[in-house]
Amino acid sequence: MSERLDCIVLGGGISGLTAAFLLREKGFSVALLEASDRPGGSILTWKHEGFLFELGPNTVLNNAFEIDSLCEKAGILSRRLTAAPAAKVRYIVKGGRLVKLPGGPLGFAATPLFSLRAKLRLFRELFVPPAPPEAEETIAAFVRRRLGEEFLAYAVGPFVSGVYAGDPEKLSVRHAVPKIHALEKEHGSLIRGAVAKRKGPAPAGGLFSFPEGLEELPRKLAGLLGGSFRPATAASAAHRDGDGFRVEATGPSGARLSFGARAVVCALPASAAARVLSPLGGEFPAGIASLPYADVAAVCLGYRREQMGHSLAGFGFLCPEAESRHVLGCLFPSSLFPGRAPAGHVALTAFVGGAVHPERAAEPETAVLEKTVAALRDLLAVRGEPVVSRVERWCPAIPQYNVGHGRHKAAADALERGTPGLFVSGNLLHGVSLGNCVQNATAVAARAEAHLSA
Ligand SMILES: Cc1cc2nc3c(=O)[nH]c(=O)nc-3n(C[C@H](O)[C@H](O)[C@H](O)COP(=O)(O)OP(=O)(O)OC[C@H]3O[C@@H](n4cnc5c(N)ncnc54)[C@H](O)[C@@H]3O)c2cc1C
Repeated sequence: MSERLDCIVLGGGISGLTAAFLLREKGFSVALLEASDRPGGSILTWKHEGFLFELGPNTVLNNAFEIDSLCEKAGILSRRLTAAPAAKVRYIVKGGRLVKLPGGPLGFAATPLFSLRAKLRLFRELFVPPAPPEAEETIAAFVRRRLGEEFLAYAVGPFVSGVYAGDPEKLSVRHAVPKIHALEKEHGSLIRGAVAKRKGPAPAGGLFSFPEGLEELPRKLAGLLGGSFRPATAASAAHRDGDGFRVEATGPSGARLSFGARAVVCALPASAAARVLSPLGGEFPAGIASLPYADVAAVCLGYRREQMGHSLAGFGFLCPEAESRHVLGCLFPSSLFPGRAPAGHVALTAFVGGAVHPERAAEPETAVLEKTVAALRDLLAVRGEPVVSRVERWCPAIPQYNVGHGRHKAAADALERGTPGLFVSGNLLHGVSLGNCVQNATAVAARAEAHLSA
């Protein structure tokens, strides 16, 4: 069977869904090929015995105008649940207890998170010269140079593990946290840059989800795509075909399918992208196969509220590597959104593993569960066993933009230039957050539209 379309989108995570939806909205014929039987990729909501857990991402940070625009176009804007004000309170583990991350200058002066010496060191940041433009530093080297060791250990390191489950000694400041890198480049100082940025226009901000969990968004997009969303259809190879493309795939029940199109948007994880794009040649497919990923296990736990020795008033906590606590951190979903736990109960989601300790995510499920429960027992003064639990393993989970990541971006640009009509999207190159994925897929859809309209 062969179909002729304007565009084939590969991968039905948030990136592929966004690109396919926006192209369909412009009137192009689209097929979105998704290997699994459901839309959403890493976005996966689990409802069980009155609890609602996210097994993948928990919240969307509304940090890009494209997110509002997508939700509005999909008719889902009014369904959004903004996180409770408590979400602004975040904890860092220090000395085995949860310490609030300071929210302002007074809190910063008083916080026990940093020593007086580290606090005074912060003012020197204004005078630390920027790195030479060609230098590519790790996040750890950058933070040590500008802010000092304590900020690396008890602020930036945990933040990096919260976003990338990554290793700050390997992640590239230029590619993994480009906005922070740009502050130094454009303003010569993070503090001066942060003050300047506060004056510019900004998206609404804040964290959100939906009453039925984050999966509402991909389900809604797939529903609007109708027959253009092809679940259980795994792309195997993309070939040049005249001035367009032919994509081979295996459909439901193993049927061999072939699609022709004038454009292809690839929103696949690295290993699949490498395989499917390899017939097109170039450095990108070969190189992206070696993109490192962090492995993560999400551990969802439900307790009766009276089992908790901590108020759980906040977003959750992050655990610095120096604290050796087995977990990367833990979210308090029932403190953020209604409907996450039955009356009298609380929901917790802890994360284990990451780039520094992948072996922790790879342990047998019972070991992951037991060690996580033990860590939380200590940190949150929990009494007794959880009433509900589930371990969801993501191996691989999150791409790591380590030093040298620029070569993948350059190879993708070269492939796109040499293969008009091919566009690379997904979380491989330009940010891993859902906001980054939506932003990138929106830009890719606009480029594909321009190609198809030329
Ligand atoms: C545990 C975890 C927690 C996270 N927490 C957050 C968070 O709180 N907030 C946040 O903003 N981000 C978070 N992230 C990151 C974010 O969820 C991801 O970066 C984002 O969802 C990636 O979307 P994507 O569409 O690019 O890729 P994916 O979601 O990986 O989608 C790729 C799709 O391609 C499909 N596919 C694979 N091979 C083929 C093939 N051959 N043919 C067709 N389809 C194929 C897969 O089945 C999948 O559906 C988290 C990620 C994980 C894993």
